Amino acid sequence: MLLRPDRLARRVYEIPLEELIAAGIRGLIIDLDNTLVGYRQQRPSDEDAAWVAAALARGLRIVIVSNNVQGWVSEVAGGLKISFVHKAAKPLPRAFGKALQLLGTTRDQTMVVGDQLFTDVLGAKLCGLKVILTEPFGPREHPAMRLLRFFERLFLRGRQV
Ligand SMILES: [Mg+2]
Repeated sequence: MLLRPDRLARRVYEIPLEELIAAGIRGLIIDLDNTLVGYRQQRPSDEDAAWVAAALARGLRIVIVSNNVQGWVSEVAGGLKISFVHKAAKPLPRAFGKALQLLGTTRDQTMVVGDQLFTDVLGAKLCGLKVILTEPFGPREHPAMRLLRFFERLFLRGRQV
């Protein structure tokens, strides 16, 4: 099922690193907007930044894959000392392929993390990648996102993942 996440997490920093590592995950492809950084925020929270640092310290590789423009994406990625793919055009597969190259991991060793069904989850599944769907940051989202969220809730309703 192309719109079915492999698991759910409230926030990025709540994803248990030891479980990922035990499951053979070696690389993470993480969305930026509303996954690592909230709407109109400048940088990740201390908790999320600490989670990224802990993941890197445990030997996980991380790349941000964002549909956003380069300046913003490279600024956040640079602060976290990780690489990035900008203007990713998710759910199209090209950026995920590029991210896999940057990570140097196989599909089986890689987990996508993102807040949107129709970009992050669909994109991951089109590439044969596992994906964790996070809850989007806060209620202060761009108005256009609210319509998408409505459809996401329709798809997720009653589903146990
Ligand atoms: Mg997002």
